[in-house]
Amino acid sequence: MARRDLNIPLSLLSVSSLLRTIIYCLSLCCLSDGGLVSAQSPTKTEKTAPPLFEFTFTDDMKREQTLEAAQILQAQDGGVVMLTRDGRLLTATPEQLKSKRPLDREFTPLDASELEKQLKAEFGDDFTVTQTKHFTICSQAGKRYSQWCGYLFERLYMVLHNYWDDKAHPLHEPEVPLIAVIFKDRANFEQYASQLLGDGAAATHGFYSIQSNRMVLYDLTAAPNERPAYTDADILFKLRKSPFNVATVIHECTHQIAFNVGLHTRFADNPLWLTEGMATYFETPDLKSKTGWRTVGKPNPWRLRQFQDYARSRRPADSLQTLISSDQRFQEAESLLDTYAEAWAFTYFLIKTKRRLYEEYLHLIAARQPLIWSTPAARLKDFQSVFGEDLNQLDQQFLRYMRQISR
Ligand SMILES: [Zn+2]
Repeated sequence: MARRDLNIPLSLLSVSSLLRTIIYCLSLCCLSDGGLVSAQSPTKTEKTAPPLFEFTFTDDMKREQTLEAAQILQAQDGGVVMLTRDGRLLTATPEQLKSKRPLDREFTPLDASELEKQLKAEFGDDFTVTQTKHFTICSQAGKRYSQWCGYLFERLYMVLHNYWDDKAHPLHEPEVPLIAVIFKDRANFEQYASQLLGDGAAATHGFYSIQSNRMVLYDLTAAPNERPAYTDADILFKLRKSPFNVATVIHECTHQIAFNVGLHTRFADNPLWLTEGMATYFETPDLKSKTGWRTVGKPNPWRLRQFQDYARSRRPADSLQTLISSDQRFQEAESLLDTYAEAWAFTYFLIKTKRRLYEEYLHLIAARQPLIWSTPAARLKDFQSVFGEDLNQLDQQFLRYMRQISR
C-alpha cells in the first residue's frame, strides 16, 4: 500500500463528484472526469501499510454505513476519500461523515473467507466465489467457464509480469483483491451494468472500474436456447465465433492488473492514450491456443486496420498532439475507434522502437499523486521531458514505422 497523507486544498464536494463520475473502461468507450486542480510535481511515496480506521458515514442513498478503511486523502474541509478492505474507493463529505475511529491496526485486505461472505451478500446465493492465485472470481456462470476465465486471468498476469518486471522498477503484488464478477449471460450483465453505465452498457461486453477495482463480465459462450459449454474445447469452439469479445475480457483484465501491480496508479492522472494503449497492446487473443492467447507483441489486427484507414483518410496534422495532451478524443463517440486505434498504434511504435523511454514515461506517470489533474500543457511537457521536444519529427517516425509494419 502506497501511503499518501495528502492535505491538499480540494473541496470535498469536487472530490466526491469526481468519484461519482465513475471512471470506467469499456471496450468501446471510456468515461473520464474533468480537471480538478493543476498538476503538481510528483513526490516520493512511502511503501508502508496505512493505519486502519472505522468510518461511519451516510452514503448517497442516505443509508448509514460503518466500515473499516484506510484514509487515502483528507480534504481541508474535513471530508475524506477511503479505501475499503475489498479495494473500493469511497468518499464522505464533512456532512456525511459521522465518525472516524482509529483502529490499532494497519490496513490489510479482506481475506478469502471475509471476501466470499461479502460478495455473496452483495450478489446472492446463485453466485459462487472461487480464488485463483491472484484473482477472486464471483461467478453466476457455470463452473467450467469460471475456471476457464481464472486460467486466462492468471496466464495474462504472468505474461504482463514477465513483460514489465525489471530490477530497476520491480512490480509489486496487488494490495487489494482483484475481483472479477461474471454474470451468467448478457441479459443479467446488461441489467447490472446499466445501473452503473446507463446507455453505455448496451455497447460493451465488460468493463473495469477504477473506483471499485472490479472487472464485470459475462459468460460469452451463453446464448439464448443453447446448452452451456461443458468442456474447455466447447468453450473455445463457441468463443471462436466472437474473438473481439474475448479481446474485451483480456483488455479489461489488463487494466485491472496494470492498476494493481504498479504500472499505473489508481486515482492519479493517467493519460488515457497510455492506459488504453497498454490494454490494446495485450488484447489480441489467439483462439487456437487453450487460453485464447496470442504471443505478446504481434500487431493487433483490428486496431491496425482501423489505424491504417484513419491515417490514410482523415488523420489531422495535430493528431499526435491532441492524443497526448488531453483525453478529449476518448469522449467523442464518433471518432472513438480511431482514437483507440491510434492509442494502440502509438503504444506499439513506442514499445517496439523506444522501449526504455516508454518505460521511463510509464514510471513518471505512475509516480503521480492521486486526484491531482494535469492541464493539457503539463501533459505535453511531461511527455516531451522524456521523448524530446520535436513532436513533428516523432510523428513522422511513427507514421513511417506504421506504414512499414502494414506491408
Ligand atoms: Zn480500456
